Amino acid sequence: MPLNRRDIIQLASAIEERREALREEIHREVARGRDESYAELTGATHDRGEEALADLVADLGNAEVTRDLGELRDLEAALRRIADGGFGLCADCGGEIPLERLRAQPGAARCAACQTRHEKTYRS
Ligand SMILES: [Zn+2]
Repeated sequence: MPLNRRDIIQLASAIEERREALREEIHREVARGRDESYAELTGATHDRGEEALADLVADLGNAEVTRDLGELRDLEAALRRIADGGFGLCADCGGEIPLERLRAQPGAARCAACQTRHEKTYRS
């Protein structure tokens, strides 16, 4: 059953909340790791957005931040899919991603089977 409008609105607001929380977490982590970069970071992200944040964070090599940033990117991509109508469809097989899976992980781009396959491929 395709997602209805209400489901999508709920998931979109969950994504936006999670995105804000992740941004705060990333900024906190970065500030803790390297105090002097914090002013630079907030200044840069104000003007240039997530790409600038990504570049700065990549330099820090903080595993937790890197993971948070990956999740943040997934969420940004999910919001774009909501905007262009592809949300809730598996990026690999085109099948519908179950609502339960999206509720647990609204940034999911693939159904569970394709995600498992993707991770195996990616690892090896
Ligand atoms: Zn799939």
